[in-house]
Amino acid sequence: MISNTAIKHLIDKLGAANVASEKEDLLVLGYDSTPGIHYLPEVAVFPTSSEGVLAAMELAGNEGLPIVPRGSGTGLSGGSVPVQGGMIICLNRMNRILEIDEENLTVTAQAGVVTLDLFNAVAEKGLFYPPDPGSQKISTLGGNIMEDAGGLRGLKYGVTRDYVMALKGILPDGSLLTTGGKSVKDVAGYALKDLLVGSEGTLGIITEATFKLIPPPQAKRTLLAYFKDTRTAGAAVSNIIAAKIIPSTMEIMDRATINCVEDYVKIGLPREMAALLLIEVDGHPAAVLEEADAVRVVLERVGAAHIEEAADADHANQLAAARRTALSALARVSPTTLLEDATVPRSRLAETFDEIERLAEKFKLKVGTFGHAGDGNLHPTVLCDERNQDEMERAHAFYHELYEKVLAWGGTVSGEHGIGLAKIDYLERQIGAGGVNVMRRIKQAFDPGGLLNPGKIFRDTTEGPRG
Ligand SMILES: Cc1cc2nc3c(=O)[nH]c(=O)nc-3n(C[C@H](O)[C@H](O)[C@H](O)COP(=O)(O)OP(=O)(O)OC[C@H]3O[C@@H](n4cnc5c(N)ncnc54)[C@H](O)[C@@H]3O)c2cc1C
Repeated sequence: MISNTAIKHLIDKLGAANVASEKEDLLVLGYDSTPGIHYLPEVAVFPTSSEGVLAAMELAGNEGLPIVPRGSGTGLSGGSVPVQGGMIICLNRMNRILEIDEENLTVTAQAGVVTLDLFNAVAEKGLFYPPDPGSQKISTLGGNIMEDAGGLRGLKYGVTRDYVMALKGILPDGSLLTTGGKSVKDVAGYALKDLLVGSEGTLGIITEATFKLIPPPQAKRTLLAYFKDTRTAGAAVSNIIAAKIIPSTMEIMDRATINCVEDYVKIGLPREMAALLLIEVDGHPAAVLEEADAVRVVLERVGAAHIEEAADADHANQLAAARRTALSALARVSPTTLLEDATVPRSRLAETFDEIERLAEKFKLKVGTFGHAGDGNLHPTVLCDERNQDEMERAHAFYHELYEKVLAWGGTVSGEHGIGLAKIDYLERQIGAGGVNVMRRIKQAFDPGGLLNPGKIFRDTTEGPRG
């Protein structure tokens, strides 16, 4: 256990209000948003400056305490859960937007800024920060960078990685790292910035980041298409892409999700439909008009049961907001929601829906599927109860078989939620022992003592809470 002297040192350095060591304060920090994973930290700190982060890391290094960085804990793979106990460094009090640079079209912010706050701040200046994870009202930029978060606009605008221009952080040995800058081109040495993005808090702690901004689209049109079977909805997505149209958003919800969302938000979604696609096209007004018409033509050709267009901007926002509630809406109907992140080449979407339905039937499970269909990224979610051992075994068998197909089709075990703890067993199936070994060697180079977020991405031989 951490000594009282060490806690006193932390209080001296960070202030009593920024240190928690009582069990009742620590309990909640032992979870993220992944069901069934909980470990108790020994202490948690909430630094308000990078000096505070450094002081906490130095203390942890001296005491041999594992360090787990944390943003808002909305992660869906157990990334910020302290599997070996130790110290949580929670970045969410480092929440200042430092500079909006209108000449270079960049924004620089501390790692604990909430994603939507950044979006709103740059929007006030007439600029656009596209990455919009469903959790954007809560998630932090640090968490987004470390998971390379995607979002509803990912299809056209890409993911967090595509906007990160520079990072400032602290490495496990206490050294400060600055990588990247405001120059749009930079090939000086290894691409450390790109290595850090998506590294799930295992290589360094990010304290500050600079992001690229773009001009906002001038116009947007929102279409809703309903389908009598999920296969046709999947085929519609690949047909729209094959028609060389790239909507900004192409999101899917199946019948179970439509019903849970409708119960939750009550906006009149048709409960009898097997699937819906929420499609947004944006850009220059003339192009938007043309693209929306072209999307409609493809939808009619593949056999959508009904197509409608959002009446106005408020209606469009209401539909996007409804889609963002999908996970919370599903979570209301069962004690446990096991959510996966299967991602396939878009041409395989229709088959993936068939496979999900076949396996749900085979394993007698209730499954709701939603996701970023335009990215081939689906979240098949098993609605279950972790107290029911048999049901949990069936749920794991469901995912095991599903991933066999997903990998055989050239897909990935995680499109955006990361490996963390939850998917450790899947990673080697995808990239092989050789790939995992290279990753271990990179981890070793950044963190020879193995103190930073241990036990994540790949198994750690010293795994297990400290005594
Ligand atoms: C309802 C809901 C909807 C979601 N929708 C999406 C979605 O559309 N797209 C998507 O990609 N994800 C989605 N997620 C998952 C999650 O919101 C994202 O992974 C998000 O990026 C996590 O941010 P966070 O601040 O909560 O990070 P946390 O969960 O606190 O941490 C995530 C990881 O980052 C590390 N970390 C956090 N901050 C730092 C830092 N400053 N330095 C170093 N490491 C750090 C942690 O150690 C951990 O490994 C959703 C989650 C929920 C609950």
